Amino acid sequence: MTSPADLPKLWTHEPHEYLVFRDGDKVANIDTSATPGFKGKKSDAAELQPERNERFAQLQEMLYANSRGTDDTRSVLLVLQGMDTAGKGGIVKHVVGAANPQGIRYTGFGVPTEEERKHAYLWRIRRALPPAGHIGVFDRSHFEDVLVVRVHNIVPPEVWGRRYDEINRFERKLVEDGTTIIKAAMFVSLDEQKARLSERLDRPDKYWKYNPADVDERLRWPAYQEAYQAMLERTSTDYAPWHVIPCDRKWYSRLAILELLIEALEGLNLSWPPADFDVKAEKKRLANA
Ligand code: ATP
Repeated sequence: MTSPADLPKLWTHEPHEYLVFRDGDKVANIDTSATPGFKGKKSDAAELQPERNERFAQLQEMLYANSRGTDDTRSVLLVLQGMDTAGKGGIVKHVVGAANPQGIRYTGFGVPTEEERKHAYLWRIRRALPPAGHIGVFDRSHFEDVLVVRVHNIVPPEVWGRRYDEINRFERKLVEDGTTIIKAAMFVSLDEQKARLSERLDRPDKYWKYNPADVDERLRWPAYQEAYQAMLERTSTDYAPWHVIPCDRKWYSRLAILELLIEALEGLNLSWPPADFDVKAEKKRLANA
């Protein structure tokens, strides 16, 4: 068994280095069962995750504390995008779930409601952005507007075609205003997706997760592959790069996204905000109270 002191060393590099999308990368070539940069096994991940969850929770609390105790308005936004069964829900539960919900702003984006359809596609996105000191989590996102919308021809190509640049401008402004964006594109193989959908049909406690439309979407995988490829090529920027996450092994995708979060938070160089009162005097007052 790996000693706890060695656990973080199970990563050969920061996962970011392996997972960031690079020009020329092809969705068709993603090895969805790979574990890039991690030299441990599933059992190592089970040991490592609680420790890293704790580190993540500590950093999240520091981010939150800074927005209360100082005029620090920075925030973080985690964008989870992936086909059905890629494991977005598992990231929310097992990774983000380690943090204090007080500082998390979670939003799942489904088919736009009647009200949302009255507005431009970024309207609902802007309303869900994390306030200062919070970590926003997008379970699906504005990228649906160049994925499902493109595959299903919900708007004409000239309309969705403009969105790539619009999204880049939108994200650039967010970053300039102090939000660190982490984008995770989650990929499972068609075989693994079939296994996960079958499990939902075999278990009454999973029926609620099964949506017959998922099978229709599965049949459109080549069109989705094309749409994901265009999304990665056109919206991976130096200020908000995409990360390509292989998701056939849930333990790996959770650990990888957890490290991306920790890396981003550590990059903010956070520390506990100093007391804005006289600690000594307050101790004395309290002792006599
Ligand atoms: P999930 O599939 O994410 O686990 P779910 O099955 O519970 O969630 P919802 O979250 O209600 O379903 O909706 C997800 C569906 O909404 C997906 O099929 C997605 O493609 C679709 N969707 C999201 N955004 C848009 C959009 N802008 N236009 C059309 N459809 C969208």
